[in-house]
Amino acid sequence: MTTVTNLGFPRIGAKRELKRAQEAYWRGEIDAAGLLDAARELRQRHWRLQKDAGVDIVPCNDFSLYDQVLDTAFLFDAIPDAYRDLADKEPLTGYFAMARGLQENGVDLRALEMTKWFDTNYHYLVPELHSGQEFRLRGNKPVAEFEAAKALGYNARPVVLGPVSFLQLSKMVDDSNRYALLDRLLPAYAELLGKLRHAGAEWVQIDEPCLVLDQNDADHAAYRKAYAALADAPCPRLLLTTYFGALDDNLPLAASLPVGGLHIDLVRGKDQLDTVLETLPENRVLSVGLIDGRNIWRSDLDQALALAKRASARVGTERLWLAPSCSLLHVPVDLSHERKSMSEDLYSWLAFARQKLEELAVLAGALAGRPGTETALQAARGQLQQRRDSAKVHKPAVAARLAAIDDATSRRQSAYPVRRAAQRSALNLPDYPTTTIGSFPQTQEVRLARARNKSGKVSDADYDAFLAAEIEKCVRFQEEIGLDVLVHGEFERNDMVEYFGEQLDGFAFTRNGWVQSYGSRCVKPPVIYGDVSRPAAMTVPWSQYAQSLTDKPMKGMLTGPVTVLQWSFVRDDQPRAQTCRQIALALRDEVTDLEKAGIGVIQIDEPAIREGLPLRRADWPAYLDWAVECFRISASGVDDRTQIHTHMCYSEFNDIIDAFAAMDADVISIETSRSRMELLDAFVQFRYPAQIGPGVYDIHSPRVPDAGEMADLLRKASAVLDPRQLWVNPDCGLKTRGWPETRAALEAMVGAARELRAAATGTA
Ligand code: GLN
Ligand code: ZN
Repeated sequence: MTTVTNLGFPRIGAKRELKRAQEAYWRGEIDAAGLLDAARELRQRHWRLQKDAGVDIVPCNDFSLYDQVLDTAFLFDAIPDAYRDLADKEPLTGYFAMARGLQENGVDLRALEMTKWFDTNYHYLVPELHSGQEFRLRGNKPVAEFEAAKALGYNARPVVLGPVSFLQLSKMVDDSNRYALLDRLLPAYAELLGKLRHAGAEWVQIDEPCLVLDQNDADHAAYRKAYAALADAPCPRLLLTTYFGALDDNLPLAASLPVGGLHIDLVRGKDQLDTVLETLPENRVLSVGLIDGRNIWRSDLDQALALAKRASARVGTERLWLAPSCSLLHVPVDLSHERKSMSEDLYSWLAFARQKLEELAVLAGALAGRPGTETALQAARGQLQQRRDSAKVHKPAVAARLAAIDDATSRRQSAYPVRRAAQRSALNLPDYPTTTIGSFPQTQEVRLARARNKSGKVSDADYDAFLAAEIEKCVRFQEEIGLDVLVHGEFERNDMVEYFGEQLDGFAFTRNGWVQSYGSRCVKPPVIYGDVSRPAAMTVPWSQYAQSLTDKPMKGMLTGPVTVLQWSFVRDDQPRAQTCRQIALALRDEVTDLEKAGIGVIQIDEPAIREGLPLRRADWPAYLDWAVECFRISASGVDDRTQIHTHMCYSEFNDIIDAFAAMDADVISIETSRSRMELLDAFVQFRYPAQIGPGVYDIHSPRVPDAGEMADLLRKASAVLDPRQLWVNPDCGLKTRGWPETRAALEAMVGAARELRAAATGTA
């Protein structure tokens, strides 16, 4: 009978038990033994849950106290010098110092850099390597977890990040060639695999997700070398595991590597099955990823079964394993905790980790012709049909609006130069106009008021009065320090997507749908289940109120369509672009309503546009096309005089600068202070036509730069761009900062702008 396997289970726990234990440990409320107990209890519970759901081979070493890439670095002793003494003396303290930094008793260690795990919203810690790097096996986490599972009677398969992906995901601090390290790394891998075999592991899941990326000849050579070396060592059989996309041009290589089996993602890479079946050598196990590990919808089991049958016709049931497309790390643990938080029909459409494994068991049963599976398949069919037909999902009015989108919908009335002139006279701003990115400090008091309002302890009227007072204070503050374009401060917002999702139709929220973002940090992404529309204005009342307090322009603040999409669980029954257009239309209405309410400057934040980029370069243009179109749909309903801003907070623009220009915003604010304006180069070379606010100070750090330092940055920017293109603003929103540093930094920022204005008049 076909084997059901899993590639990884969410380790945080259904109720975020791991987060509680981690944070209690960091606060010193429990000791290391307490933390490790909680971790062990979670692993055991999750193995049992998987087994009960019908999994034959459960993963082990998929658990992590913080992050699996950090675990790998630690395991192979890739510990930067600064942390080494600590890691030797107190491994757990050293490990967490690499993860989170450590400032204590004269020790001052920064955290390793963190970055996104492929195109997911999970973040991993970037190992730092250098040309002299040595590797050795340190500790025995994978072996210990395997032995623990085995002792409990589970057929467990250790998960190990493969050597080539490990090197690719690491940073070479001296820019040396990463693959020069392979000769030193492989013996450590071989030693680990040998120990796992000795402990009784039959198979090891060796993850090489980089095989779904564009890989060059040097990368290919590295895989060949690595797997040839491991094939010579006394190892368990290796399941070369790929996910998040199709192998495509890397398939011949992957199929030729001397391993025991191959896992492929048939959700993202559905079309690769036939070529894989043709290419895979006779004796290999094929693990097919049939159930979406990245989303929370029940599967179309008939479709999955058809794929499984095609595969089994070729490789036979013995060599065919069924699995989720990727680790289930990216979905919440168990839907049954949501029974009370959502409507019955929505509940019947969703599947979290546990339900996904149950789906796999049904597929295995159907493949084996086990009696009773037809009932389960029929039930699934019924749910799917009900979702397809649901009036909650399909709104004719939204479909009609979508169908009516034409070129004009995503085009402003006039080209930028005309708009610029209209906005100049409408807004009458000085040169080097100053503004902020939107949020002001979300103090304990603000968060508490929101929580108390949510739990019913503070009435809506009192909460509104509180917000009105906060907004007024914020407006007075901005007037006092002399900013030119003001904001209301975003005190009413919990999160930049949730705030809008809660007010839009087609969105649902879970009570316990937690997904790990990094370390102990979890997010609860909204679920976009149906056609999106806007029943009523969302931000107009507060923006209008804020504008009524001042003669200065008040900037309206919105989260852009691509960012809302990117940070949600998105429906799988229509293309992402389609869902995004619906969000864009809803936001467009908000933008035009703001304009009608007298708001002349509107910022549409798109911090997530870049992270939505597909993994393969060849797929970028299609994505950027619709992403830019959606932004433009949301922004283009206004008069020439209304100034549209956008904001992005990251530091790589070169490769997509033309898409940014195509967004056709009047003003774009970006992150540049950390790179000392170097990344403005892209804008200069491209001759970016509109206005730019290159962030002049880094809000991610409590450090307050002085006016001179910011004026220097502005002079640097003025030297390469037309000074009339420049705005003066921080890097990002101020919600994580305290008031004293915010005041000091913004006063200095306004001072810097004045310095440049004075210098300009002086020379004129
Ligand atoms: N307007 C948002 C804020 O100021 C932007 C946040 C972001 O870029 N991530 O907080
Ligand atoms: Zn930002």
